[in-house]
Amino acid sequence: MHIAVIGAGISGLTCARQLQVQGHSVTVYEKSADVSGRMSTRQTEFGGFDHGAQYLTASSDVFRKRLAAWKKAGLIIDWSPNLVRLEQGAHKPAPRSPKRFIAIPGMGALCTHLAQGLDVRCEQVVRRIEPFGKQWLLSVGSPNVAIDASAGPFDAVLLAVPAEQALPLLAAAPALAKQVAKAKLSPCWALMLSFPLPLALGYDGAWVSGSRLGWIMRDNAKPEHRAGERWVAHASNDWSVRHLEDDEERVQEKLLKAFHEATGSQVQPVHVSAHRWRYAQAQAPLAENCLWRPRLRIGTCGDWFAAGLEGCGRIENAYLSGLALAAAVGS
Ligand SMILES: Cc1cc2nc3c(=O)[nH]c(=O)nc-3n(C[C@H](O)[C@H](O)[C@H](O)COP(=O)(O)OP(=O)(O)OC[C@H]3O[C@@H](n4cnc5c(N)ncnc54)[C@H](O)[C@@H]3O)c2cc1C
Repeated sequence: MHIAVIGAGISGLTCARQLQVQGHSVTVYEKSADVSGRMSTRQTEFGGFDHGAQYLTASSDVFRKRLAAWKKAGLIIDWSPNLVRLEQGAHKPAPRSPKRFIAIPGMGALCTHLAQGLDVRCEQVVRRIEPFGKQWLLSVGSPNVAIDASAGPFDAVLLAVPAEQALPLLAAAPALAKQVAKAKLSPCWALMLSFPLPLALGYDGAWVSGSRLGWIMRDNAKPEHRAGERWVAHASNDWSVRHLEDDEERVQEKLLKAFHEATGSQVQPVHVSAHRWRYAQAQAPLAENCLWRPRLRIGTCGDWFAAGLEGCGRIENAYLSGLALAAAVGS
């Protein structure tokens, strides 16, 4: 089959690779300039920031085996940061947590690897999916091109994007749209900071309570990351929801103040930037592994599916869901 996959995050790339192995001809459409989605590493003159997902964990045997294979291939390494809980300026030991892995040199590198050998079209936003006989046509926009292009026909279309971004594309599959509408992802503001000297806080990362921030992490604590003191801070879910539409400068100011308050450090950064993840964290997952309508040949996958796990919203969910959708298409 000739298949279109929309979204080049880890779920879309996993699904596309698997389908290609099954002998299908696959084209991946990605609206951003590069692959990786929420696993992107933001490059700056001060070094890379993993401003979305920061590490991988595994709770299933399938993903544990996948991580072992990626580790053997030199794509990921173990990571044992010193993590604490920050409460009103005092830091307390963090509860025992699962084994962590990071992609090197940054999280985005793993998706760059997965995209190799695939036909990935970046800076191509899919705006509409329309039936064309028993096939599908996509309406695709790209920067600097005034008129959307038509792509296809495709025998199947697979949406590997957050539920809220899938919904407007599902006008021709209302029953599927109804199920997708039950999932919800909440936003997260991320702050990236580079300092002229080490902050010497005594920890690499912290869950923060009683603050605008929920989590902070010393990005250069990751082995093989470029030298220089860099921190990523994620605003709490509540704060991100309330300030979702604030302008970036105001968010930088407020979150930097919160960073100084939480850590007790007053060192001023030489670089501050913020990123709004509009659909960051899956809150209400769908219980399924993925959704697939064999008669229409349209489906969805992503981290907003439980995919056999207890929680949702992790790289592991996205990976397993991408695999499940490829298996469903092939069955
Ligand atoms: C701040 C933050 C911290 C996180 N921390 C962790 C962590 O430490 N560990 C962990 O396991 N998980 C973490 N996560 C979650 C993890 O990043 C996601 O579960 C995973 O990356 C989701 O992958 P995905 O492929 O399902 O979706 P995405 O990565 O969102 O990929 C979807 C892709 O589709 C593209 N797209 C959307 N609409 C269109 C369209 N119309 N046309 C073309 N392309 C489109 C997007 O640009 C994007 O590239 C974090 C997420 C965030 C935001």
